[in-house]
Amino acid sequence: MGKLDDKVALITGGVSGLGRSTARRFIEEGASVVIADIDSQKGKSAEEELSTLGGDVVFLEIDVTDEASQARVFQETIERFAKLDVVLAAAGISSASYVSGQINERSEDPEGNFLFNKSVDDWRRVLEVNLTGVMITNQLAVKSMIELDIKGSIINIASIAGRRPLPGATDYCVSKSGVIMLTQSLSAEVCGRGIRVNAIGPGFIETPMTASIRQSEEGVDMVMSMTPMARFGVPEEIANTALFLASEESSYFSGQTLFPNGGMYVG
Ligand code: NAP
Repeated sequence: MGKLDDKVALITGGVSGLGRSTARRFIEEGASVVIADIDSQKGKSAEEELSTLGGDVVFLEIDVTDEASQARVFQETIERFAKLDVVLAAAGISSASYVSGQINERSEDPEGNFLFNKSVDDWRRVLEVNLTGVMITNQLAVKSMIELDIKGSIINIASIAGRRPLPGATDYCVSKSGVIMLTQSLSAEVCGRGIRVNAIGPGFIETPMTASIRQSEEGVDMVMSMTPMARFGVPEEIANTALFLASEESSYFSGQTLFPNGGMYVG
């Protein structure tokens, strides 16, 4: 018996890093999974790899900043599986120019990424993907669950950056702080209907998003100085947190953000 037998899960950002690791964990626990992401080439290869686990997994292309694109993915998911129990919003970017798998070039000048030097377009891009994208995912998830009369679980990926300022990443920190409040506000609106909304605020985890930090001595020192366990987390540790929030084991949790972060204090 798996913890997610007969459940259907939709994961945005499901092709890479935390989304992909969670897709794998959900499949192992019996769920059918839709991985939705922006790059269809990477998507097809992830679908192929995850299919080898034996579950029902399908890739659908999505741009989370585009309402119509998100609506199409929800519609196709429900047409295919006739239900939707778990939605995980994991699509995200660390900066306006971020693409997973590419080393993120940061300004040589430490002040180059500070708020007073950021362009408004870059600010808008990060907020658009990380906050408005999650809001659209949450809206569609709630509408679908109400329409299908499903008491489902919605999980948003926030970050410790939503609680703790990281110099040079103001746009990212503000977007993740917004995700924490979005989670609390939406939960207050819908948990009375049996739809639970929670978030995960990971510390620094070994995914493509932290590749540039992990490759620099200065980056590793910075993370170690903030993390009492003195190591990066691994994606499986976040996938296990998502499994808890997706399953009945967390049946009395809603509006919460869990912080798997190696003991870092986030207040
Ligand atoms: P990742 O490996 O880069 O995964 C993020 C995925 O989101 C990528 O596949 C990316 O596609 C996709 N994406 C970006 N923009 C999109 C859009 N507009 N529409 C649809 N998909 C889009 O990074 P990750 O570490 O797994 O991050 C997952 C989530 O965890 C993010 O929200 C991130 O902020 C959060 N988080 C990560 C950490 C960490 O330490 N890794 C810590 C705290 C929070 P492309 O890159 O191919 O464009």
